[in-house]
Amino acid sequence: MKGGKLIIFSAPSGSGKTTIVRYLLEQPELNLAFSVSATSRPRRGKEKQGVHYYFMSVSEFKKNIKEGNFLEWEEVYRDNFYGTLMSEVERLWSEGKNVIFDIDVAGGLRIKRKYPEQALAVFVKPPSVDELKIRLKKRSTESDDKINMRIAKASVEMATAPQFDKIIKNYKLDVALKEAHRLVAEFVGVEQDSSKPEDE
Ligand code: 5GP
Repeated sequence: MKGGKLIIFSAPSGSGKTTIVRYLLEQPELNLAFSVSATSRPRRGKEKQGVHYYFMSVSEFKKNIKEGNFLEWEEVYRDNFYGTLMSEVERLWSEGKNVIFDIDVAGGLRIKRKYPEQALAVFVKPPSVDELKIRLKKRSTESDDKINMRIAKASVEMATAPQFDKIIKNYKLDVALKEAHRLVAEFVGVEQDSSKPEDE
């Protein structure tokens, strides 16, 4: 498999990585396309099939695992499978795009290990686990049980941050967005819009 670059954004749920990924997708010079994951979790709110996820049943997901169709997959929460289909990455590469991923920590590190040179793995760090709890409750798309499950997982995920190429602290969103843009632009080889005066 060859092609463009792979930009991985991983973080505990609620850390703001999705906002950062959406912002980066709006920057045409980065030439990014979003890797739509497959999942067996139920659809939430306004989510659309094939846009936010490829929603499928647990048995359909397991069939894809058996057939070796995934670049990586994880049972992120019990019976909630998430995975990146090889066909999705190949499709985006064939369009000449760099592929950006919004995936969990284990999946992100797995892709990085498979493509050490081609991939940039970025960890988005929330201010604290307590702040995560507040953000997830505000989002209020899920039951308390589900939120607590995500929070329990967050502490374990925070410990993996040092294994990533880069860590972005999402304490202030505008600062985090700028930093994310700078890192990705550098990695994909785009000239930076520098406000620094020239040396000469
Ligand atoms: P959510 O249910 O909030 O959409 O996502 C739950 C978690 O699963 C998030 O951390 C999200 O980034 C992660 N995730 C989404 N797609 C994938 C994927 O393809 N592979 C893996 N390993 N995790 C994913």
